[in-house]
Amino acid sequence: MKRIAILGSTGSIGTQTLEIVRENPDLEVVGLAAGANIDLFEKQVREFKPRLVSLRDEAACRELKVRLADLDVEIISGMDGLLGIAEMEESEVLVTAIVGMIGIRPTIAAINKHKDIALANKETLVTAGHIIMPLAAKMGVSILPVDSEHSAIFQSMQGENRERVSKLLITASGGPFRGRTRKELENVRLEDALKHPNWSMGSKITIDSATLVNKGLEVMEAKWLFDMDLERIQVVVHPQSIIHSMVEYVDGGIMAQLGTPDMKLPIQYALFYPDRRPMEGKRVDFYELGSITFERPDMETFTGLKLALRAAAEGGSLPTVFNAANEKAVSLFLDRKVSFLQIPEIIEMCMDNHRKIENPDVDAILRTEQETYELIHSKF
Ligand code: NDP
Repeated sequence: MKRIAILGSTGSIGTQTLEIVRENPDLEVVGLAAGANIDLFEKQVREFKPRLVSLRDEAACRELKVRLADLDVEIISGMDGLLGIAEMEESEVLVTAIVGMIGIRPTIAAINKHKDIALANKETLVTAGHIIMPLAAKMGVSILPVDSEHSAIFQSMQGENRERVSKLLITASGGPFRGRTRKELENVRLEDALKHPNWSMGSKITIDSATLVNKGLEVMEAKWLFDMDLERIQVVVHPQSIIHSMVEYVDGGIMAQLGTPDMKLPIQYALFYPDRRPMEGKRVDFYELGSITFERPDMETFTGLKLALRAAAEGGSLPTVFNAANEKAVSLFLDRKVSFLQIPEIIEMCMDNHRKIENPDVDAILRTEQETYELIHSKF
C-alpha cells in the first residue's frame, strides 16, 4: 500500500490523480486539500476517506465540518491545513497539484519530513528551485515530475548516465494561436485562447500555453529539475503533441517519450516510479497519424517565451516577478480586463521595474510576489 496526500484535489491534475487512485487499489489517500470547490471536495472526502483535509477559508471549513459531521475526519483551514497535510506522518508522497507560489511552503515542509514529491506545481521550482532542489538532495527525497514534458525527459533518462546528456529538447504544441501574427492577435477573444488544440487543462495553464509563457516556465522548471544550463535547453514546436519531450546525448543519439496527450500517464508514472503500471486509453496509431512536424518557436510574436528566457538567465528574484506578473495578468485577462497582448506587456513592465534580489529566501520570494501584484494593481 502506498499512502499519498494531494494538494489541489479539485483541480485538473488533482481529479486525474484521484482517478488513478480509483484504478489502483494499492494507493491510499490520507490527506486532501482544495481551495473553494466545497461540493466536489465533500464528494472526494466521502469517497476516499482521508484522515486530514483542508479548504482555503475558515468559513468553508466550518461548513464542511457540518456537512461531514458523520465522518471521522480532521479539518484545518488555509496554510495551516496545507502544512499539516504536507507533513502527515502516514503519507509517503505529496502530490503538489495546487496552482501558484502558495505551493512553496508546503513543498518545503514535506521535503523536511522526508516525503517524496510528485510535482505538478511548477511555480514552486520556477521561483524557489534554488531552495527546493538542494534541500531535496540533502534530505534524500525524490522530486518526481508530473508535468508531461518533464516526465518525458525523466523517462528518457532512465538507465542512462546523466553526465552524458548534451541537450534537453522540450516540445511545445504552439497553442491555439500558432502561426498568427501580432496584428492577428490584437483582438483574440478569451474563448479562443481557452481552446487548447491537444491538452485539456485548468484555465490558467491553458492561457499560459496560448502565450507560450507555459513553455518558458517549463524551461525554468527543467533547469532546476535536471540541473541543466539554459543554453542546453531547447524549445521545439511540435503541433501534434505526440513527442512529449526528448533528451539528446553526447553521441548525438536522442531518446524521446511518445504517447497520446493524456496527463494521467505522467501522474501515474510519478506515483509508481520506477514501476510502469498498465493504463487503459487511446494508443498512438502511427498509420493514422501519418506525419509529425517541428518548427522554431516564434518569440517575436509570442514574447512571453522570450521574457521567460530573460528572467531565467538573470535569475535571482526575476523568475518570481515573471511568474507573479503572469499570474495577475492572466487573471485580468480571464476577467476580460486586459487584452491577450497585454499579458506579456504587463510581465515586461514588472520585470523592468524590479530591482533584483540575488539569492532570495522564501520570505523574499513571497514579498516580491506581493510587490509585483501591488504594482499591477496600481495600474489596472
Ligand atoms: P486547476 O486550476 O485546475 O486546480 C488548482 C487546484 O488548486 C484546485 O484544486 C484549487 O481548488 C486548488 N487551490 C487553489 N488555490 C488554493 C489554495 N489557496 N489553497 C488550497 N487549494 C488551492 O490547476 P491545474 O490542475 O491545471 O494545475 C495545477 C498545477 O499543475 C499548476 O501549477 C499547473 O501549472 C501544473 N500543471 C498542470 C497541468 C494540467 O494538465 N492541468 C500540466 C502540467 C502542470 P478549488 O478549485 O477548490 O478552488
